[in-house]
Order: sequence, then structure tokens, then C-alpha cells
Amino acid sequence: MYKAILFDLDNTLLDYTSSELDAMHRAIAQHRLLELGGFEWETFRSVFAPINWTYWSERVERQIHISQVLHFSFRDTLAQLGFDPSLSDPLAKTYWHLFCNTCHVMEGAHHVLLTLHGRYPLGIISNGIGEAQRARLKTGGMDHYFDHLFISDEMGLWKPDRAIFDSAVHAFGLDHSEVLFVGDSLQDDYIGAERSGIDFCYYNPVGLPIGELHQPKFAIQSLSELTMMLDNR
Ligand SMILES: [Mg+2]
Repeated sequence: MYKAILFDLDNTLLDYTSSELDAMHRAIAQHRLLELGGFEWETFRSVFAPINWTYWSERVERQIHISQVLHFSFRDTLAQLGFDPSLSDPLAKTYWHLFCNTCHVMEGAHHVLLTLHGRYPLGIISNGIGEAQRARLKTGGMDHYFDHLFISDEMGLWKPDRAIFDSAVHAFGLDHSEVLFVGDSLQDDYIGAERSGIDFCYYNPVGLPIGELHQPKFAIQSLSELTMMLDNR
């Protein structure tokens, strides 16, 4: 019998992919990049993505703030495509503001939280930026469901480090065996939960194959399966 349910946030409860795309579309439109001769959205996206991934991946080691990650990513992308890189600073600021205030929700997320809220204490463990995660949850009307948020950049701990899972379990005053963690990543969520001795429910909406190395306790394809699964325990 679980006494608390913890969730990953991005692409488990909140649709990061849609939110990011939406905020980027609107930032590009606001700064009238589409009106620049030769600007192509798909090309911009395909150049931006790996540049941004590199800065994001290196940000902790290089001690780069998220505002710099975005500024540098837009700057390098614009320069590589032959556009004025000085647009990058206002573009990055607009994008970040829009992203923090955009909330696309995964299908069934509101319902599962509404159903579980009051029955279990609920928490979030997210490898994200606190400013964005807190603002997005608020925008989506979901912040009130959670007793605790454990967000990597605020804690200096990143999944799959078991320490962030251990901190969460201790904050709830529970034993590891009394907590269930739900997430969409085998790499960060499953490995971290397993290292910490917490049962893991793999949320796998597109039905990705699960290798033999990974043996989550539960696997669900829709969030509504989670409430049914808990009801039957
Ligand atoms: Mg995720």
C-alpha cells in the first residue's frame, strides 16, 4: 500500500514538447523573424535543437544560467543561418517568458491528479528549472495538488542521482517502500527510483519497447491506468 505518489513532470504530467514548440513559435512571431528574407522555420528548428542541447547539457559543469543557455543558443543559431545575432537577447527573454507561462498538459493528467489528490500526498521530482516548473504548474492550475516539489536546479541534485529521490522520501516522512514514482524516462526516472529502492511506474504513452535491462514494477500507456492500478492494490 503506497502512502505517497511522486511524479516526474515533463512529458509525464506536462507536455514539454508542445509547450516548447508553442513558446518558440510565438517568440519567433513576436520578433518578426518570419518576415526576414530567407528565414525558414524548419531550418531554424533543426539548427537550434542540437546547439541548445549542447549548452543545456553543459550548463551545470560550466555554471551557465538558463538565461545564458537560451541567449547563446539563439545567438549561435542566428549567426549560423546568417541573421543578425544581436536579436538573440530579446528573443531569449521573450521565449523564456512565454515558455514559463505556457502549459500544455498530458492527456489524463488533470483527471489523475484530481482523483489521487486527498487520497495520497503527491509530489514532483523534476530535472528542470524551478522558475519554469513552478510557473507552468500554476498556469496549468495544477500547483495546488502537490505537497512537495523537488526540482533539480533548486536542489543541486539531478535524476538519476538517488539523493534527490531519498530527499523526497524523507520530506514525506515515509519509508522508500511506501512511495511510488511515475515517470516517462527509463534513463532518469527508472534508474533513479531503482537506485533509491522506490517502486517505479513507467508511463509509456507511445508504447516504446522496454529492454531486458529495465524491469519497471508497473508500465502504463495512459495516466488513467494509474488510478485503476492503485485501486486494485
Ligand atoms: Mg519526463
